[in-house]
Amino acid sequence: MTDSTIDRALTGLDSATAARIRQAITAPGFSGQLTEMPSTAAAQLLPLAAAFSVHPISGFAVGAIAVAASGNLYLGANLEFQGMPLHATLHAEQSAILNAWMHNEHEVQALHVSETPCGHCRQFLRELSNSETVGIHVGAHIYTLSELLPYAFGETRSKGNGLLDSTPVALEAVKPNPNTSQQRAINAAQRSYAPYSRSPEGFVLECLNGQFFSGRAAESTAFNPSVPSALVALNQRNLSSSRTVAIATATAAKLATAINNPLPFASTLISSTSNAEIKVVQMDAR
Ligand SMILES: [Zn+2]
Repeated sequence: MTDSTIDRALTGLDSATAARIRQAITAPGFSGQLTEMPSTAAAQLLPLAAAFSVHPISGFAVGAIAVAASGNLYLGANLEFQGMPLHATLHAEQSAILNAWMHNEHEVQALHVSETPCGHCRQFLRELSNSETVGIHVGAHIYTLSELLPYAFGETRSKGNGLLDSTPVALEAVKPNPNTSQQRAINAAQRSYAPYSRSPEGFVLECLNGQFFSGRAAESTAFNPSVPSALVALNQRNLSSSRTVAIATATAAKLATAINNPLPFASTLISSTSNAEIKVVQMDAR
């Protein structure tokens, strides 16, 4: 991201806040998280979030900011893949929520979006255990999900059973292997949100600079808005300071007995951006 892009995105923020954000996002370990921000900053940060958008197909940048209960802010941006089917796309709302989740946040209290959320994202947001109270900010309006998605499909998730706050599953490799990426992939899979397939999965990307990016399955009761672990990992890389650094290795962890299989899609997705072969670790419940 160029200096002028950052400057344009930070127009409107006071100079001290803008300077702190510029320092954070240009630091080598930036991961898409902004801490100690004034609560009023979220809406003003949407242009910055949108600057992380990758949109080779639509040419349309969308930004989102998730405000976690901790007070931390999480960037989100739409992520498209040239040469891939349209359904491989991650939307900005999903990107921000998943970013908060991958930083181990347990609750998002507000979501700011630069465009009106599409139906797919409204359904995805149903997986939050606080889906009835999370404030969805679009321009000057604050909506509840029931206003945006009346007569919703699927049950409301209860507290402790939603996308961000569900209980981890204990998993282990069928054939133990001390390889770091394999263990990272298992660790990620343990915190999957897979109440519908009951098939947790984890994915780890290692970039050439040694940075690791993990992803885990985030399911939707309507299935199609679900986000597979490989896409979650690619989102974390895209929101980081390593977004343009090549992928060196890719590792997937899947349940040996899973009835669904994340690998064909993961392999197609990774092949669009890297020559790395996916190493697979098969897991079982501990
Ligand atoms: Zn959407």
